[in-house]
Amino acid sequence: MRRIPLLDFGRIPAEERGRLEDAFGRVLKSGQFILGAEVAAFEKECAEFLGVAHAIGVSSGTDALLLSLESLEIGPGDEVICPSYTFFATAGSIARTGAKPIFADSCPGCWNLAPQEVRRKLTAKTRAIIPVHLFGQPAAMKNLLAVGQEAGLAVIEDAAQAFGASSDGRKVGGRGLLGCFSFFPTKNLGALGDAGLIATQDGALAERIRALRVHGSRVKYRHEWIGGNFRIDALQAAFLRARLPSVEAGLEMRRRNAALYEEAFLASGIAALSPETCRCQGEERVTPKFTSQLLLPRNSRGEHTWNQYVIRYPTDRDGLRRFLSEEGVQTEVYYPLPLHQQPCFLDRGGAAGEFPVAERLARETLALPIFPGLSSGEIERVVDLIVRFASQKGKEA
Ligand SMILES: *Cc1c(COP(=O)(O)O)cnc(C)c1O
Repeated sequence: MRRIPLLDFGRIPAEERGRLEDAFGRVLKSGQFILGAEVAAFEKECAEFLGVAHAIGVSSGTDALLLSLESLEIGPGDEVICPSYTFFATAGSIARTGAKPIFADSCPGCWNLAPQEVRRKLTAKTRAIIPVHLFGQPAAMKNLLAVGQEAGLAVIEDAAQAFGASSDGRKVGGRGLLGCFSFFPTKNLGALGDAGLIATQDGALAERIRALRVHGSRVKYRHEWIGGNFRIDALQAAFLRARLPSVEAGLEMRRRNAALYEEAFLASGIAALSPETCRCQGEERVTPKFTSQLLLPRNSRGEHTWNQYVIRYPTDRDGLRRFLSEEGVQTEVYYPLPLHQQPCFLDRGGAAGEFPVAERLARETLALPIFPGLSSGEIERVVDLIVRFASQKGKEA
C-alpha cells in the first residue's frame, strides 16, 4: 500500500533542491549567520513580491504576530478581536502581550472572521482586530478594514497560511496596517525550520519592529524599547530566497489539485459544494438546505492559496479519518477545539454554543493532502476511498 502523506518534502523538484544546496554553501562560505546580506536581500524580494514598502524577517509566524502587537504598544487593559476558529498562535500572541483576546465567530461560508461578528464585540478597550486568511482563502478585507477605520483600530492580518493569496487585486498581508507571515515548513513558502515575516507600508512601524527584533535597539547597546531576539536566521533567509521563485508554480499546482478534488467529488454524486455561501458582505441569514453528507470547500474571494483543502463530513469525521489512516492516507483536523474552549482561555467565558460556526467547523472538518507534488492518481485514490466510506455509511443510516 502506497502512503499518501500530507506533505512530502522528498518530492520537491531537483532544480529547487539544487538551489537549496547552493544557498547552504553560500551562507557557509560567507560566515555571516545572523542578519546580514541574505536577510536584507530576502526582505527586499519579499517586499517586492507582496507589493509593500517594508518586509521584516523574524523568527517565526508567532513572533511576527507578537512583535506586530508590541510595535503598537498593545498590552494590559487592551482588547484585540480575533477568530475562535484559527491556529492557537493568533490568540496566544495577544494574550502574551497582556492584552485580552476577544473571540468572534466565523462566517459560515468562507470560515474567516465575520465583519458583523467583529462589530458586535467592539468596546472602548478594543485596539486591534486580527483577521486570519484561513487555509489560504482571503478574509473579507474591504469590510474588515472598514470596521477598523470606523472604530479607529489597527487591522493586523494573520496571513500565515496565505503567502501569495490576493483579493481585490492586492496580495494579502499588505492591506492591513501590518501583515504577518509564517514560513513553517508546511506553509506555502516553507523554510527548513522556523521563520516568519512582517509586512507593512508604514515606515515608522517598520523601523520600530526592526529594533524590537534585536532587543529594541537601533544603535548597538542603546535600547530605546524592550525587545528580544526575534531574528530570522541568515540560513533560513537564504533557503527561502532559493524557494521564492517556485512559490507561484507551487500555488498553481495547489489550485489544480483543488480543482481535481472538486471535479472528482462532484462526479461521484455523493458530495456537493457547501450550500453555505459567504455572508461577510452582510447578506441576510438564510438557512441553506443540506442535500449531501459530504461538503466541499468553496472559494468565496480572490486568489486562494489552498494551503489546506478542507472538506466537511458531519456524519462521522473521526471515523472517516481513522479509515483513511488505515488505508495509508494522512489527513489532519484543523482545528479540533476552537480557541474559546481551550483550557487556558476558559476563564474568559468559552461556554459551548457561544460560537456555533467555529464549534461546528471544529467537529466536521477534515484536511486532505493537497501539496504541490501530489499526483492526480493519488487524488483519485483519496476521493475513491472517501466515497466508498461515505456510501457505506449512507447505506447503514
Ligand atoms: C502557522 C500559523 C501561525 C504561526 O506560525 P509559526 O511560524 O508556526 O509560529 C500563526 N497563525 C496561523 C493561522 C498559522 O497557520
